[in-house]
Amino acid sequence: MCRATKLCCFRCLRWFEKAESEECEVCGDWKCVNCSSCLCDLTTREKKIAISYMATYENLLKELTDKSYDFKRHRRVLEQIGVKRDHLVRASVKS
Ligand SMILES: [Zn+2]
Ligand SMILES: [Zn+2]
Repeated sequence: MCRATKLCCFRCLRWFEKAESEECEVCGDWKCVNCSSCLCDLTTREKKIAISYMATYENLLKELTDKSYDFKRHRRVLEQIGVKRDHLVRASVKS
């Protein structure tokens, strides 16, 4: 689970409340309440950037809080960018 309650939109860079936003059934992301962007609105190259940053911070949170994030929700995006879910969890933080 994404533990952030406020998310920064990667398109308009405005902050929005996760609780007020809708989940996209296609990409598993939360739609920005300001511009309604989700991962679907990004190019393949941009999706790689978004997912790599997500992986970086979710691995850090796993180290700090021991709660893991399941990238399964983004499986269609992962297929598109050609990365396996397991690859996104660093071996040293796997439980
Ligand atoms: Zn936005
Ligand atoms: Zn989407």
